Amino acid sequence: MASAEFLTLSPEECAERISAWGGKPFHGRILRRELMQRGVLDPMEMTGLPLALRERLAADAQLLPGRELRRVVARDGTTRLLIALGEEEGPSEPVSDDANALTVEAVHIPAKARDPESGATLCVSTQAGCPVGCPFCASGRLGLARNLSAAEIVGQFVRGRALGPLRRCVVMGIGEPFLNLPALLEALAIVREEMGIGGRKTTVSTVGFPDLLDRALRDKPPFQLAISLHTADDDLRGQLVPAMADISIAEVLSAGDRWFEATGREVTYEIVLLEGVNDSPSQADLLARALGGRRCSVNLIPFNSVSDSEYRYPSPQNVTAFAEYLGQAGLTATVRRPRGQEVGAACGQLRLNR
Ligand code: SAH
Ligand code: SF4
Repeated sequence: MASAEFLTLSPEECAERISAWGGKPFHGRILRRELMQRGVLDPMEMTGLPLALRERLAADAQLLPGRELRRVVARDGTTRLLIALGEEEGPSEPVSDDANALTVEAVHIPAKARDPESGATLCVSTQAGCPVGCPFCASGRLGLARNLSAAEIVGQFVRGRALGPLRRCVVMGIGEPFLNLPALLEALAIVREEMGIGGRKTTVSTVGFPDLLDRALRDKPPFQLAISLHTADDDLRGQLVPAMADISIAEVLSAGDRWFEATGREVTYEIVLLEGVNDSPSQADLLARALGGRRCSVNLIPFNSVSDSEYRYPSPQNVTAFAEYLGQAGLTATVRRPRGQEVGAACGQLRLNR
């Protein structure tokens, strides 16, 4: 029997499932460890299990949801995985290789060469597509197909672990995480338990729906928060983040303040810099005034090219000047250097180009 939800079974269910495959109940624990802690994907290589069970698993069991469709490795070792999923959540739906199969991306980003101790980071997706529709983003181009299940999110971690040990995770792949929060929280709890990637090492990026942020706060969210703000100009934000057109910047920043007060963790504001759109000194000034006095950090992300995009990279001079302006205004601004850029640029690009 196929069982792609294997990754989200409770320990008791896991023992039951492995018994149905002819193993002993404790083999369930070993199998989970092989997948989640050692990143072994091929049952035949799970040497902690008896041979007969390995053969049975290899023949009958679908342990991970979906399948890897494409893998692209950049010169700096960044690996992008394109994963095909069934139209429906869960294991029952066979994944066709027809061009219509739903896909998501996960990106394994190795430690920086100058700081190998920092460990690898995995970037994961939470939705197939995205309903927010930011015009500069490849993921928003095709709209939302469906939410991912918790097992489909955990499955990305297992495929990522197979590429090397993971230290951190950023939920910055395809989709708007707060529109699929229950599945994300279930997945993060499993990843914390089984892989030791906890709240300090997990960052979730969102466009910042205030009501959803407030609701998430009730359950002590186990992650750091990044809000994709992009500008402090309300009209421009409505164009850049269409689903947020009716929500003012002031409301988003107040929600960020409540987050900081409740969790004690500083919020990061992300700004994708687009040439001639939001990279000018006046935009930097507006942002510095809007954020002024807050304990927060700002991540400047120079636009990554998306095919057929009307947007352009900002010049390095404008990026530097923007960061310096914020720095002089007392804000901590970091420019995010793109990793693995030559293999599919922005997240969602592999999926879009397939
Ligand atoms: N939906 C969430 C998380 C996924 S996008 C969000 O928008 O925050 C993760 C980050 O990638 C966001 O900050 C988003 O603005 C940024 N991004 C999207 N397309 C990009 C592009 N073409 N170049 C650079 N950054 C991009
Ligand atoms: Fe969705 Fe984020 Fe892309 Fe906007 S930037 S379309 S919210 S994934």
